[in-house]
Amino acid sequence: MAENCLFCNIVAGAIPCQKAGENDQVLAFHDIHPQAPTHVLVIHKTHTASLSESHDNALLGDLLGGARDIAQQLGLSDYRLVVNNGPQAGQTVFHLHAHILAGRPLHWPPG
Ligand code: 5GP
Ligand code: ZN
Repeated sequence: MAENCLFCNIVAGAIPCQKAGENDQVLAFHDIHPQAPTHVLVIHKTHTASLSESHDNALLGDLLGGARDIAQQLGLSDYRLVVNNGPQAGQTVFHLHAHILAGRPLHWPPG
């Protein structure tokens, strides 16, 4: 756990979240500023700052497979999975996470 990391503190239970799903490796919770009717963040319980700083393919598999399972548990068939990597791509929390967005038409290309 990285002590100053917001999402590590959510994993530890020190900061509350609205849980959307969980397994031994990953935790999913509703985004505090939802950008779609369903906006869930999926994180690995092990701290990694970003996708480009992750060198653990098993962790990445847990994250992607966890996101798939949580989307299925939420009853979603059509959804977008987004990973923002780096500040210029919109990353604001430096604990790797995937956004699940669903419940409205999702345009392409994204902004
Ligand atoms: P990023 O911009 O790094 O890709 O995504 C970070 C996301 O975390 C944002 O969508 C933001 O709304 C969300 N977020 C920031 N702080 C909190 C928080 O304390 N709780 C929850 N549930 N979401 C948060
Ligand atoms: Zn962290």
